[in-house]
Amino acid sequence: MFYIGCHLSSAKGFLAMAKDAERIGATTFQFFTRNPRGGNAKKPDPEDIAAFLRRKEELGLGPLIAHAPYTLNAASDKPEVRDFAFRAMSEDLERLELVPGNYYNFHPGSHVGQGSEEGIRLIAGMLNEILTPKLHTTVLLETMAGKGSEIGGRFEELSEILSRTKHPECMGVCLDTCHVWDGGYDIKERLEEVLYEFDRIIGLSKLKAVHLNDSMNPLGARKDRHAKIGEGFLGLSAMGSIINHPALKDLPFCLETPNELSGYAGEIALLKTLRREPISAEGPK
Ligand code: FE
Ligand code: FE
Ligand code: ZN
Repeated sequence: MFYIGCHLSSAKGFLAMAKDAERIGATTFQFFTRNPRGGNAKKPDPEDIAAFLRRKEELGLGPLIAHAPYTLNAASDKPEVRDFAFRAMSEDLERLELVPGNYYNFHPGSHVGQGSEEGIRLIAGMLNEILTPKLHTTVLLETMAGKGSEIGGRFEELSEILSRTKHPECMGVCLDTCHVWDGGYDIKERLEEVLYEFDRIIGLSKLKAVHLNDSMNPLGARKDRHAKIGEGFLGLSAMGSIINHPALKDLPFCLETPNELSGYAGEIALLKTLRREPISAEGPK
């Protein structure tokens, strides 16, 4: 199954997202758990969720990605910012129990000058207070471009966070193609080597999802500006290699490109034409 989708607005609830996904040919999607710039989350509506779960089953949607707000920063030097991170993640994960078996993706955080060592300590500390094996959601660290004091621009930093958590089995990594490219990992010319590095440092078994974005900037720019598929420095051929790579092809791929729904529909259709059919183990019949 090719799980391909995009970021959708959660403003109208879960069932509305399933309808949007169907309309644009998506087989997975991502949504913000609350306003990306912070703030409170709406109370979930049990009827909407029940209807959504039925529709998800009928459509055969793959695992979904709930995205934490950008303002969630467990590595901040300000106690009130760390407190918001703790409360937002705790509450988001509690609500996601209503739609079990999916992913919760967050940006590890920015150490704002305290140094990545201290940032990593704070992030792992928060995770250790929140995560329990009772949760039915896998929490994903997103690979970052490494702009400013962002943590997660290097695979080593993500590995360090994972190794300090008491429940690494509750966690995984989401690879953002624009971010790793901007962070200096050449997934255009050296995809195989980058994945080898990922496997050596983090472990490919931890890789659970891909944010599929082209980049407006060259390799290593540390900028984080997403481009439409095939319209950036990565290009269409790199996108084709990524969605067909044996280590990646079964993961959910989520577009976060600058698009409206119709633009996403076009990119999803385009990516489907680039997807190669699996070759069966028995060979052609
Ligand atoms: Fe993100
Ligand atoms: Fe992303
Ligand atoms: Zn980004």
